[in-house]
Amino acid sequence: MSCSPSVAGSGTPGAPDRKSPQGAPLIGVLALQGDFAAHAAALERLGARVREVRVPSDLEGLDGLVMPGGESTTMSLGIEREGLAEPLRRLAASGRPVLGTCAGLIMLDREHLGVMDLLARRNAFGRQARSFEAELEFAPFDGRALRAVFIRAPWIEEHGPAVEVLAEVDGQAVAAREGSCVVVAFHPELSGDDRVHRWFLEEVSRARSGARGAGGSQ
Ligand code: GLN
Repeated sequence: MSCSPSVAGSGTPGAPDRKSPQGAPLIGVLALQGDFAAHAAALERLGARVREVRVPSDLEGLDGLVMPGGESTTMSLGIEREGLAEPLRRLAASGRPVLGTCAGLIMLDREHLGVMDLLARRNAFGRQARSFEAELEFAPFDGRALRAVFIRAPWIEEHGPAVEVLAEVDGQAVAAREGSCVVVAFHPELSGDDRVHRWFLEEVSRARSGARGAGGSQ
């Protein structure tokens, strides 16, 4: 699997947008399909710079990437059409944090981009519960409840040993991390609670300082 084992990453080859590494992070939001605009708005409210990603060159110089919810079949076709699969794998392997939400979780699994060592089950909660809200214990928040919105959500059917489950609903894994990649089956951009995005930006800033430390002089 190509998700970097270390949040600090392996350097920042040719990162042209990093002239002021202390400045606001530049976060890409995959904008082929789905609710990318709500993610962009949430990230901008928290002070990040946002770039919509549609073609491989949009990935250059990013500090992190969000893959939104939407329709995973359509998103797969768009990734294929634009030649984004390999560049997305490279970005994930570089240690820059990646957050996949709902269909974004599906895209990162073994059967799609193969970035994370997990298998998503699409529409896993069945027809009666296609959309619902639940109070979750999201491990990074030390047990403080998180209200999560699920829309025809997947769950994580199985995963390898490097994957840490971060939250469950009815005993099913709905959030996980593997190195610098985090996936959630719900929609943090729709709940009015910005803690997941805030936490992701903290991960990005930790990765940036790690990369600067490893990279030397900047
Ligand atoms: N059910 C959708 C799919 O399989 C995902 C739903 C979502 O992203 N809200 O692609």
